[in-house]
Amino acid sequence: MFDSLTDRLGGILDRLKRRGALTEADVNEAMREVRRALIEADVALDVVRSFTDKVRTRAVGAEVIKSVTPGQMVVKIVNDELVAMLGSDAKPIDLDAAPPVPVLMVGLQGSGKTTSTAKIAKRLTERGNRKVLMASLDTRRPAAMEQLAMLGTQVGVATLPIVAGQSAVQIARRAMEAARLGGYDVVMLDTAGRVTLDEALMAEVAEVKAATKPHEVLLVADSLTGQDAVNTAKAFDERVGLTGIVLTRADGDGRGGAALSMRAVTGKPIKLLGTGEKMDALEDFDPRRVAGRILGMGDVVSLVEKAVENIDAEKAMAAADRMRKGQFDLDDLRMQLDQMEKLGGLGGLMGMLPGVGKMKNQLAASGMNDGVLKRQKAIIDSMTKKERRNPKLLDGSRRKRIASGSGTKVEDVNRLMKMHRQMADMMKAMGAPGAKRGPMAGLA
Ligand code: GDP
Repeated sequence: MFDSLTDRLGGILDRLKRRGALTEADVNEAMREVRRALIEADVALDVVRSFTDKVRTRAVGAEVIKSVTPGQMVVKIVNDELVAMLGSDAKPIDLDAAPPVPVLMVGLQGSGKTTSTAKIAKRLTERGNRKVLMASLDTRRPAAMEQLAMLGTQVGVATLPIVAGQSAVQIARRAMEAARLGGYDVVMLDTAGRVTLDEALMAEVAEVKAATKPHEVLLVADSLTGQDAVNTAKAFDERVGLTGIVLTRADGDGRGGAALSMRAVTGKPIKLLGTGEKMDALEDFDPRRVAGRILGMGDVVSLVEKAVENIDAEKAMAAADRMRKGQFDLDDLRMQLDQMEKLGGLGGLMGMLPGVGKMKNQLAASGMNDGVLKRQKAIIDSMTKKERRNPKLLDGSRRKRIASGSGTKVEDVNRLMKMHRQMADMMKAMGAPGAKRGPMAGLA
């Protein structure tokens, strides 16, 4: 599905990667080409624009890392933004509810709804070890009901016996009842499709949804229809509410636009990809893996990731070194506050230490909480580079300016400065505690 996009992006990024130095103009030129490639892949215009803007901003502002080229850095940024555009984390089907868990399958006729229903049921049965019941709610097309029954036999999943003359809601209720009695874990409800979107279809789906309260409402959409698939998803989501998308015919020669725009336009995650007519042609949609497949530059991405890790380690070493010499400045304090936040804020940090429950309460009582952490960082961010390096510069008028810049009070700034001075003194006195004891050494 992404073949031609992969070729295009590969060419652009390869050229960039080989350059020793990059100017802003080089980045802009490359982004123009990326933009064209994405538009040709049928990605929604707004999504393309926001993507290239983000990459450009990050690429221009990126820190230069010694061990990688600027071009490699840009590849990593493109990769990261691609992952973000695709939805960041994989979102598998969620069945975490009291059984029988209803899963509603919706979509246009011919999108691959019935096929996907059976594929998912097969997978849940075989890999998830669940007892699954399938039911077709397509009252207008007996052939559709028979198709599901046939697929059920083929994959070894039970289907609800067909009773003529019932409405979709009646069938859905009967399926839930049968599942309860039969001890089923999951009920897959395959709703009727139409050739085009119409209100009667939506109303029926909404009615079934209200009657069964499904845990998942999955739209099945055909990736070959490009932006139409995205628009269908938007319409269904607005009218009945979706929890995710199953994108079919990913094995076809679609240009990838539906897959790339779906999350950004609808806010709903693609959960699964249909990759063929066979019953096990179903793949989890993992944004990282898909981005990797599109760019085909996994080696560059991991190279840059390693380099960034090294830089962080080098920075920490340099900070520890300065602390040993009593040169603990406000940039160092900022880094410590950052680390504290990464460790889950004060609560998380304290939770890791044995026997500090009491201390945590004391801290809370003294007003030291995660809000304070954020405010302290805002205060430091409102200082100039010079001020951060040399806190002695901070006279009354500078403190006033910093307080108003960070939306805090002068007392807050004073308190932070006092804390910094105490930490710096303590570190000097103790030799090298900053390196050995980590971020809490000065505070605790
Ligand atoms: P429904 O009308 O939405 O229920 O569509 P069906 O499930 O009947 O599927 C229509 C056709 O598309 C069938 O021939 C399926 O085998 C085929 N199909 C479904 N999913 C895929 C897929 O992921 N890849 C390919 N190549 N064909 C698919």
